[in-house]
Order: sequence, then C-alpha cells, then structure tokens
Amino acid sequence: MQTKKQSLIESLTNTAIGFVISYASTFLILPLVGLKTSAGTNLIITVYFTIISILRGYVIRRYFNKKRYSQLPTLYCFNCEVENHVVEQKGRLFCADCGLVHKNSI
Ligand SMILES: [Zn+2]
Repeated sequence: MQTKKQSLIESLTNTAIGFVISYASTFLILPLVGLKTSAGTNLIITVYFTIISILRGYVIRRYFNKKRYSQLPTLYCFNCEVENHVVEQKGRLFCADCGLVHKNSI
C-alpha cells in the first residue's frame, strides 16, 4: 500500500522525467513533421501537454480509486482525520488512504 506522501513523490518524479523527455522530443518530432519552432514554443507546447497529462492522470486515478474502494467498509482514520475506507490484509485493517493500522486483527 502507498501513502499519500509516497504517491505525491512518485507522481512528481513521473511528471518531472516525462517533462524532460517530452521537451527534448519536441526538438526531434516537430521538425520531422515539417514544423519550424523555437525553444520557447517547444516549451509552451510541452507545458500544455504536461498539464493535460496531469489532469488526465488525476481523473483516471480518482475514478479507479473510487471504483476499487467504494465497496469496502469505512472507519474514522485518526491520521487522515476523516472517515476513510479500510483494506484488510492478513487479518489487519489499514486505512486505504494513508495505510494506518486500525485494528490488529479482525
Ligand atoms: Zn488514513
């Protein structure tokens, strides 16, 4: 299970690496399709598609997260300070968001 902090670090790393690869790729692909652009234009294009990618990833992740956890029971999580779904693993209940152990056995 991944904590929110680990998810944020993974997401930022993925976005940063993707941004660098995409920006470098614009210098290859745009001339190949006959577009003459400047480094500044390539940067704007890369920023635009990076924002679209972040929004797409967020919407898809939230959709599957909701679908995955909507059938699970909920408990108040003292770490998240809200009612959250719980996941059972090997007889132990964990907060589906932060991984806090709610109960040592079921
Ligand atoms: Zn929690």
